[in-house]
Amino acid sequence: MKKLILLVSLSVMVLGSFSAHATHYYDKKPNMSYLNKICIVFQKPSDQSHWGDGLSLAVQRYNQFFSSNPDVSFTSGYPSGCSHYIELRSKRLGYNHYFALEADKVSSWSRRPGDWIMINTDRENDYSSRDLRAGILMHEIGHTLGLKHTNDGAGTAIPNTNNDSYAYASVFLPEDHIEPIQQPTIPVLTNFDKRALEFLVNQ
Ligand SMILES: [Zn+2]
Repeated sequence: MKKLILLVSLSVMVLGSFSAHATHYYDKKPNMSYLNKICIVFQKPSDQSHWGDGLSLAVQRYNQFFSSNPDVSFTSGYPSGCSHYIELRSKRLGYNHYFALEADKVSSWSRRPGDWIMINTDRENDYSSRDLRAGILMHEIGHTLGLKHTNDGAGTAIPNTNNDSYAYASVFLPEDHIEPIQQPTIPVLTNFDKRALEFLVNQ
């Protein structure tokens, strides 16, 4: 049975421990057989007008990173030969709902990457520029691959990445439960992010 976990809401109460070990964490390593060609699709084509440009940039950023690892590539749309699909879904959940976007996570039993990213359309105007849209989608795509927030102590540390400045620049920056929620504003994978991703796919 698939267990759907609200990743955005579950980074527990760690507000007092940000400065100690802001370390990048992974959850579960995905099974490489699912990573050859990851296709990201809109469940509702109408969402493409708001999110399509951000998704293109997010996909481009991941492909730039994975260009040195020909086993992994991303694309948007429904080409043939996809090894895994991530569906972008959307729902009206209200502006005060606790998440703007959330993501499915790596399956415990199959280590299949997450199958969906959910957008709360009542909060999509928070993402008023392409860079904001790309940043949050890069963040959520990372969750589907197994990355956690940089302040999430429930995971396992990546060696030699205890550096707060890296952690805060990361698109997996610590998540604050007090509004305004911190957002990745620059759609770039930092060296910190890259090390975490390398750790996930090199197995
Ligand atoms: Zn998150």
